[in-house]
Amino acid sequence: MFEKIAHIGVAVKDIKASTKLFRKLFGKAPDHTESLPEYKVHTVMFEIGHSSIELTEATDAESPIARFIEKRGEGVHHVSFVVDDIEKEIARLKQQGFQMIDDKPRLGADNYYVAFLHPKSTNGVLVEISQKKA
Ligand code: ZN
Repeated sequence: MFEKIAHIGVAVKDIKASTKLFRKLFGKAPDHTESLPEYKVHTVMFEIGHSSIELTEATDAESPIARFIEKRGEGVHHVSFVVDDIEKEIARLKQQGFQMIDDKPRLGADNYYVAFLHPKSTNGVLVEISQKKA
């Protein structure tokens, strides 16, 4: 079951400059900062109510974030939803004909298991589903 929007991912070129900008926008400091070497990104999270904004900067030209910015520029990259049972949701979504990028959940930022759907099957929106690691 989809429960809520976990976060909206924003692809940025310069995470220091963007952190300053979003700090000014929200009037608060970020809540969480994390580097994910396996995804070749730095992330900064701002919690806003029950959801967050996740700024993501590529640390390598081969990172999907770098390729996204090259093609489409900075901006909204993905929408992440909290689900109650990620394995069950992956099976359900596949059965419904959605194309998964990740057939199996993998560990993402902030101790969440995540899986991405292919934007081709969701009207161009990159959808991430996530479940907090127990
Ligand atoms: Zn995300």
